[in-house]
Amino acid sequence: MSVGGVVDYTTCPKRFYWTSVRPLPRFSGPAARIGTEIHRWIERRASGQGQLLETDDAIDLTHEELAGDPGRVERLRRSFLASRFAGVVPLFAERAFLLRVGAFTVSGRIDAIYGGPAGPWEVVDWKTGAGIAAPMQLELYGLACVEIWGKAPEDVTLSYCYLAKDEVVSQPMGDPAEVRARVEASLEAIGAGVFDPIPGAWCTHCDFKGFCDVGRAWLAANA
Ligand code: SF4
Repeated sequence: MSVGGVVDYTTCPKRFYWTSVRPLPRFSGPAARIGTEIHRWIERRASGQGQLLETDDAIDLTHEELAGDPGRVERLRRSFLASRFAGVVPLFAERAFLLRVGAFTVSGRIDAIYGGPAGPWEVVDWKTGAGIAAPMQLELYGLACVEIWGKAPEDVTLSYCYLAKDEVVSQPMGDPAEVRARVEASLEAIGAGVFDPIPGAWCTHCDFKGFCDVGRAWLAANA
């Protein structure tokens, strides 16, 4: 199970079902592609391969893809360069992990970890969209820091860096046992085949809202 899968499930089990259990085609628009490219660009900079606002690696997006939001890539890059993370070499970038939780293995890849090997760590996930990210993703990263790399929970800070808003939102690592229990409960529900839809604001951007009756009803009631 990927971290993204767990996050998907805790947001809406039905969306997880249509994404991972019986996958249906999903819309991969320019926003997702821009997000991927920005992550790669930050990783190259972290490894010392990047130059300030490279001009030779412009993303080959079509005009149609960029329609309505020209210059977004440059704005996201400038946001990173203006952040407190620019110019700081992370301890790890794109750090992969496998975490055992009950009968499941959760796989993830942490965008960046700042700090020294023995000191406090700040786990950072880059966000290029406008939405508010679910805490579960960072909580799972924090759990990996504690259980795989042996960090003390009080030495782990979890941060979303919202590049589209020039904002960093941080939280301390919570109780690892409580996080683990929540994750394990979700994984057990997946194993038991519980995929009831949970509608909410996230239906607005769900690829399946066109044929999900519960999601459509929620959107109609909250238009
Ligand atoms: S439309 Fe809403 S309720 Fe339906 S699958 Fe998507 S997120 Fe879940």
